Amino acid sequence: MSSDSSAPIQKIVVKNPVVDLDGDEMTRIIWQKIKDQLILPYLDIDIKYYDLGMEYRDQTNDQVTLDAAEAIKKYKVGIKCATITPDDGRVAEFGLKQKWKSPNGTIRNALNGTVFREPIFIDNVPRLIPAWKKPIIIARHAFGDQYKSTDFEVDGPGKYEVTFTPKGAQEPSLRRTVYDYEGPGVGLGMFNTKESITAFAHACFKMALDRKLPLYLGTKSTVISTYDAYWDKIFISLYESEYKAEFEKAGIWYEHRLVDDMVAQLVKMEGGLILALGNMLGDIISDLVAQGCGSLALMSSVLVAKGEAPGEFIYESEAAHGTVTRHFRQHQQGKATSTNPIASIYAWSRGLIHRAQLDGTPELERFAENLEAACIESVRGGIMTKDLAISIHGNSAGPETYVTTDAYLAEVARRLAELQAGSQ
Ligand code: NAP
Ligand code: MG
Repeated sequence: MSSDSSAPIQKIVVKNPVVDLDGDEMTRIIWQKIKDQLILPYLDIDIKYYDLGMEYRDQTNDQVTLDAAEAIKKYKVGIKCATITPDDGRVAEFGLKQKWKSPNGTIRNALNGTVFREPIFIDNVPRLIPAWKKPIIIARHAFGDQYKSTDFEVDGPGKYEVTFTPKGAQEPSLRRTVYDYEGPGVGLGMFNTKESITAFAHACFKMALDRKLPLYLGTKSTVISTYDAYWDKIFISLYESEYKAEFEKAGIWYEHRLVDDMVAQLVKMEGGLILALGNMLGDIISDLVAQGCGSLALMSSVLVAKGEAPGEFIYESEAAHGTVTRHFRQHQQGKATSTNPIASIYAWSRGLIHRAQLDGTPELERFAENLEAACIESVRGGIMTKDLAISIHGNSAGPETYVTTDAYLAEVARRLAELQAGSQ
């Protein structure tokens, strides 16, 4: 053990590669600094680099995003920087060949994965919901339901029916009246699939085991007694047949709860759970949790997908926020910004923890935990970016209450060096 900072650092050998997906704007600038200052000095690591920056996606007709998704499937760990999802303004700004799809959507579809969002709690950063202290992870089943529904307006009295015709059959095997309209109104038909819900359930069980947190499924199965109950049916049968023994060994459990009960509890509990939700509830409740925790810059996100081999899982971690364009414009004018890099650093630490668990390398896991501790201890020690200073001191937070991105990263690097020296 040595605390001599001039001693050469014994690099940790990372057994297998990770896939690095670079991104855009302010987060791209920060991404490079994270690698240079916090990752590469400590790790002997084979990084498979994919440039998902807007220019290169356009140059490759978005092939680079598909290649990156394939690489994540191959190496099992992807670490992603925030990227621009182009709108008409971006098409003009970059002179794009077309309005390329969201890279996150492309990767999620390629991996058929589930997104888990988790706020990073730091005890001196106030939360709108102060009771929250332990992890609250929201799993959203981002497939089907209202988001892929068929909805319509009717302009007068009439009957709305649904039918189902089995493949190859001439006549429907099922016909139900949804509603007899006496006047104008609206209607909606939606669907989901066993395959997608099953993949979602596996990802949730896996996440619960990895994080040693109980898993709750929230539905409204009392009212939507076939559709919503279908999720519980799949979850409970997988739990009983594949996961129960491991859950019991880990001291955790799976339970189905009515979502209204669950949300009422959520706002008064300490946390310490994974909550699995359908598409629309997951969208709404993950935004509620994000707001409740205070800062967009403290929200991390991981995509979990089942791999091809049995029991094999694939991970991609990233910050939940975007490329922080407003700050990038200041950076372009040569001004120093106070952009919070914590969620981007967590993309690395969480990705490396998965790498360590897959490879069985506890020293890498310890490094990643030290990296997270260095971020948190810096903020607890009063060195933080402006967004956090504002949440502590209010909008009048003066320049003495915060530092630039570079100064914050330097403080994290200093603390990380100390922690690593202590654990060698
Ligand atoms: P954003 O990048 O998340 O930023 C919105 C605002 O939130 C910022 O202007 C800033 O507020 C605050 N903020 C977010 N992250 C911060 C951080 N790390 N540190 C300090 N403040 C932070 O969202 P946007 O400006 O709407 O979107 C910008 C681009 O990101 C878009 O092109 C969008 O397509 C893309 N995007 C990508 C992802 C992704 O890759 N996962 C997700 C969302 C958006 P102040 O201005 O008040 O300081
Ligand atoms: Mg939303």
